[in-house]
Amino acid sequence: MSLPALNWGPDIQPSADRIVASAAHLVAGHAVLSHSLHGNISIRLPDNDRFLLTGGGSLAELTSDDLGLLDLSGAILGGNIDPASHEIVQMHAAVYRRRPDIGAVVHTHSPYVTAYAIANEPIMPTYEAMIRFDVIEPVPVAAYGPRGSERSVSNIVDVLTDTNKAVLLANHGILVFDSTIEKATHLVLVLEEAAQFTLMAKLVGGPKPLPVEAIEQARARRDEFERIGKVQVATADD
Ligand SMILES: [Zn+2]
Repeated sequence: MSLPALNWGPDIQPSADRIVASAAHLVAGHAVLSHSLHGNISIRLPDNDRFLLTGGGSLAELTSDDLGLLDLSGAILGGNIDPASHEIVQMHAAVYRRRPDIGAVVHTHSPYVTAYAIANEPIMPTYEAMIRFDVIEPVPVAAYGPRGSERSVSNIVDVLTDTNKAVLLANHGILVFDSTIEKATHLVLVLEEAAQFTLMAKLVGGPKPLPVEAIEQARARRDEFERIGKVQVATADD
């Protein structure tokens, strides 16, 4: 049975199109998703107070009819959210509430990343591509909580900082977030590579830390973006 066609209107349709493009990018990305193609993607709307979320469990053949519209409390305002997906709503909403700088959240069971999640082991920032995304701290592990439970959401919030961009979900998968959906989607690919390469490096003498100056440069760049971002927020509130 196909879902009714949705008319998102000119304010929302461009954001819906960006989710569809993100899903296609992840599905096409070389084995970045688990075999089931499970995942969910959300994007904050330009009004800042609502977000669109993929409504089913699979990202395969996603269209803009497969999305739901929600407010930041997680209340469903419209669209199509599969009943089995209600449990993932708060995982996304909690990140938007805690982090005003975040414009998109992506959740996957990417295989190598999920190996770290199952081992409850943080991913260390030893792969150079990570620092290009200003991931210069270890990707932390949010302690296990039953899927969709208040405990699982509060465990995620506990490991969110003002600047991190990814959290491993113990024994489950990963949550990746960034200022735009394009950056968040690309960061999923980078973190999957990081997890794969770090595991392989353990077989050939072990991963070595990046040079201190590389980390310092990335940190200076991140602090500068942070400073500019705060100025922009202050201006918008005036
Ligand atoms: Zn999951």
